[in-house]
Amino acid sequence: MDMTKTVPLDRSATVLVAGSTGLVGSVVIRHLHEQGFTSVVGAHTADVDLTDPAATTEYFDSIRPAVVVDAAARVGGIDANNSEPVEFLNDNLRIQTNLFTAAHAVGVDRLLFLGSSCIYPKYSPQPIPESALLTGPLEETNDAYAIAKIAGVIAVRSYRRQYGRRWISAMPTNVYGPGDSFHPTRSHVLPALIRRFHEAVESGAEEVVVWGTGTPRREFIHVDDLAAACLHLLDHYDDPEPVNVGCGTDVSIAQLASLVADAVGFTGRITWDVSKPDGTPRKLLDTSRLAGIGWKPAIDLVDGLRDTARWYADSVGAS
Ligand code: GDP
Repeated sequence: MDMTKTVPLDRSATVLVAGSTGLVGSVVIRHLHEQGFTSVVGAHTADVDLTDPAATTEYFDSIRPAVVVDAAARVGGIDANNSEPVEFLNDNLRIQTNLFTAAHAVGVDRLLFLGSSCIYPKYSPQPIPESALLTGPLEETNDAYAIAKIAGVIAVRSYRRQYGRRWISAMPTNVYGPGDSFHPTRSHVLPALIRRFHEAVESGAEEVVVWGTGTPRREFIHVDDLAAACLHLLDHYDDPEPVNVGCGTDVSIAQLASLVADAVGFTGRITWDVSKPDGTPRKLLDTSRLAGIGWKPAIDLVDGLRDTARWYADSVGAS
């Protein structure tokens, strides 16, 4: 497969980043500016309701972007996904369908759709190659979200096949970084633990409770690495197959809890609430396709975790 058949984007092209206040969208915008893009537009819910088809079409008509990064989605951790599957399915299907329809109507030539590693079957070979897509049943706690994202991948392929659009999909592993949601119950594991351990240090608590058994393994990518990978793909990748974006190594949730404890200076006890779901046992991505087009991550988990914990401490200290 020739994966490097595209030329770098024109830095004066108008780039629309949907989901501009989210963790990924906000950092993609910073990277676009750093790379010399002169016409970058960020869209979030106050600008346009992407769940509304007419509003989305009208908005695209007013901006007329040449390039779109779709980082707009309803996202959340295992508990939010498990308890509100209807919203995770419907909102994500609506957002991406409206966005693709509007992008196609104004002739967007390059579009990057961001999916998630949860699109792959629950018991995939590890590390998970892109070819594992649609080869087995999904993890139940986030199957609604996963199906919406799978529909996005198929939509991107379909626009390519039927209309010749040079649209692409990237499948990032669990993303983290400054600016994430640190909600105690709705967020993903890494920010949730930073908050819980930080609060334990502040209150002098001797124990922190972490969900599940601690045995599931997860791979984490810093949002700066993900944003850099997105821009690299837009410059160098043009193929119907999605591209995994990961860092190549994973940790157990028990190891992650110890790393977070070290990062925030918690020295007490860690206990496990096994009434909470573990989710999928492991989802380490095979990133050889991305490596093959010349990109690799730069931020080590321990360093990224420390920076994110510091950012969180500063942001709660400031409020
Ligand atoms: P997932 O990767 O889609 O399963 O999403 P999460 O980031 O929400 O959860 C990853 C793993 O961390 C699961 O095994 C959870 O049980 C575990 N976990 C442990 N403590 C927490 C917590 O406080 N919040 C979340 N979201 N997950 C936790």
